[in-house]
Parts: sequence; C-alpha cells; structure tokens
Amino acid sequence: MEKGAVMDSESQRAIDLEEKYGAHNYHPLPVVLSRGEGVMVWDVTGKKYYDFLSAYSAVNQGHCHPAIIHALKDQAETLTLTSRAFHNDVLGKFEKYITRYFGYDKVLPMNTGAEAVETAIKLCRKWAYEKKGIQPDKAKIIVAENNFHGRTTTIISFSSDPDARGNFGPFSPGFVRIPYDDTRALKKALKDKNVAGFLVEPIQGEAGVYVPSEGYLAESAALCREAGVLFIADEVQTGVARTGKLLACDHENVRPDIVILGKAISGGVYPVSAVLADDDVMLLIKPGQHGSTFGGNPLAAAVSMAALEVVRIEKLAERSQKLGELFRQELNKVIAKRNLITEVRGKGLLNAIVINDSPESDTAWNLCLGLRDNGLLAKPTHGNIIRFAPPLIITEDQLLDCIRIIDKTLMEFKK
Ligand code: PLP
Repeated sequence: MEKGAVMDSESQRAIDLEEKYGAHNYHPLPVVLSRGEGVMVWDVTGKKYYDFLSAYSAVNQGHCHPAIIHALKDQAETLTLTSRAFHNDVLGKFEKYITRYFGYDKVLPMNTGAEAVETAIKLCRKWAYEKKGIQPDKAKIIVAENNFHGRTTTIISFSSDPDARGNFGPFSPGFVRIPYDDTRALKKALKDKNVAGFLVEPIQGEAGVYVPSEGYLAESAALCREAGVLFIADEVQTGVARTGKLLACDHENVRPDIVILGKAISGGVYPVSAVLADDDVMLLIKPGQHGSTFGGNPLAAAVSMAALEVVRIEKLAERSQKLGELFRQELNKVIAKRNLITEVRGKGLLNAIVINDSPESDTAWNLCLGLRDNGLLAKPTHGNIIRFAPPLIITEDQLLDCIRIIDKTLMEFKK
C-alpha cells in the first residue's frame, strides 16, 4: 500500500478510533495488529509479518512465548497484586532468582523503564550524600548527548532531543551532558567533586543504534572507579541478550555499580523493570523512601522469572550474537548492490540501517511502508535511520528470508 492509499475498512476503523479518542503522542505505521506468535504478527485482515522491532526489544523471547504465558495464567488465577503493604510468596523467589542471574546483592523492582531510571537516579543521589559526602543538593550525574532514558520530567531534563523537552520545562537541575563515546570528555567532567554518577546506555538504541568504540565502556567504568563515582548502565534496551551477551556491558567485562533493566525481563508480557546494585548502594533506601503500588507484585515476579528462564534455556544471548553477525554480513551484501543505504551497524540483533537521504525526508518512512507491504515491520527513528531488532528466537532461515524481503523492497523502491 502506498502513502495515502485506502486501507481495508477494519484497519481504518481501528486507526480512526485511536485518532479520535487517543492522545496523539505517537505516529504509528499504518498497520493494525491483532495476533502474535514467536517472530510473527498478524494484522486484522490475517496478513502475516515478521516483527522486526520486537516492541523496542521487549519481546526478545518472541510473542506469546508459551512458558511465559503459562506462568502469567497460573499466577493470574492465584494472586495478582497485594501491594507492598504485605509480603507475597513470589517476590522473594524472584528477588533471589534475578540477583543470582545477574550477580548482584539486591534488586529493586519497578514497572517501566523510566521508573527504573528514576530509581537509579535516586539511589545515586542518596549514595552521593550519605556515602560520598557531597553537600546537600549539590550532587551531579553525568549523562551523554543524544541519550534516551524515558519520558519523566526529570529524565527529559537531561535529554538533548528538542521534541522530548519542548515546552515541558522547568527542568530538573543536577545533570551534566557530555558527548557520547568520548572518554576525554568524561575524564574532564569527573574532575568536578560533586559528580556522583555517570549514567549511560552501552549502545544508544533510540538515538539510532550508536555502538561506541571498543573499550569505551571499560575505560569509562575505570575512570568512574578512580574518581569515586558510580557507573550506572541503562540496559533497558540493550540488556537481556539483545546485543549478544546477557548485558551489553558484558562485551567489555564491565560490572556496573547500578544496572537498570526493563522491557525484555518480562518478555513483553507485563510491564516489569528492575534496578540491580550491591548492598552498599541499595540498602541506603529505607522504608517509605521509594516504591510503587505495582512494583514487585506476584504476577510481575512470576512472569519475569519465566521470561529470564527462557533466555537461559534457549541460549538467546548466543543466538543473538551468531545471528547478528550473519544479519550484518548478509545485509552488507545487499547494501553493496543498492545505493539507498549507506551503513548497517549494531551488535547482536540490535541493528540499524542508515538511509542515504536527509533526516527530514520521508524516504525511511516510505521504505518502512514498502517493507510492511512485503511482510516485515520496522519503524524509522530520527528520520533516516531504521532499526532492525527481531525477536531473538528467530531462526537462521527466517532471518535469511527477511534479508530477501529487505533486498526486494530496496529493489522495488522508488523515491
Ligand atoms: N531506557 C532506555 C535505554 C530505553 O530504550 C527506554 C525505552 O525505550 C527507556 C529507558 C524507557 O523505558 P519505558 O518506555 O519502559 O519507560
């Protein structure tokens, strides 16, 4: 279907309802999905697509994974929410499971990625005042240009994206932005004695899958250690096997002081996020100082354990590593034939292509419409970049089929 072409009536009705009754805070590709299984999703007319976005890397385990759905149903029929006013009999099991899984003393469960980032910021500030001895209200956290950590008012305060910030001020102070992938800038910023932490994405996903130079994470973590500053990794998008390791920081054997997780820790089945840290940081938060009605509920706990177990049993990190290499190798062959794409970049199965056109053009959008028509769903980010991040359970044959779809779409594409 071309731009402006007429849709089937059922899809159009669904789109019209969203347009009329929903806030216009998203601009979705015109396709209305009603079912998902594994790597595939189906629209309301029954047309089948490869999902090449995986709900921004939340569905690493594939849609409706039977083991996760089983855990969800089982727990949903037993106990869903008690609030943290009482104990529940699943939370402790989950806390033991996830802390052993990632190798930390403690976890603080929340719901969304942004809430987990907020949690990490609060932990870092508390540590700054109570352990490092920074004067009240003086703590600073270093962040990177073009970061994406969520949408709360504090988080957008340190965003460099005009859309994220525009008319949402006044902004929260206490953040210092430096260029990404620049350890010299970090070294300089760390000279300020009021710096408490460095918050960074191991790969900048939303910005367009920017993979930093090799050694960046290891050197940054070492500089933070030397300066007595917490190294905080936002692995909401890169974590849980997406980049070919359990955490993207594992590529450089970096163990962050604080790890932020979300999205795929529930396999896209339920909103679950988590912050991991050792006792010297985590135990600074006392009863009443942080929390959430739903954080740590039994349903979330059961779903998350099942989702993480799938990652382990199905060796999704190894799959992502191997298939990611194959994907970039095959896509590079396609790119060599077609001048519409200038680059493919990424790690594991978190990849992006850069379109040979300006970010203001609608080329990437139209290319995504072409991919949709040929049975593959992807979405542009920042105008001329298209992220490719299929569920990690994708098979080699399916991946090669997707390469054929991309090649065919590029061949047919007319600007
Ligand atoms: N941090 C990173 C690195 C992300 O990519 C995202 C979402 O894309 C978030 C935080 C925010 O997560 P959520 O949308 O669940 O609040």
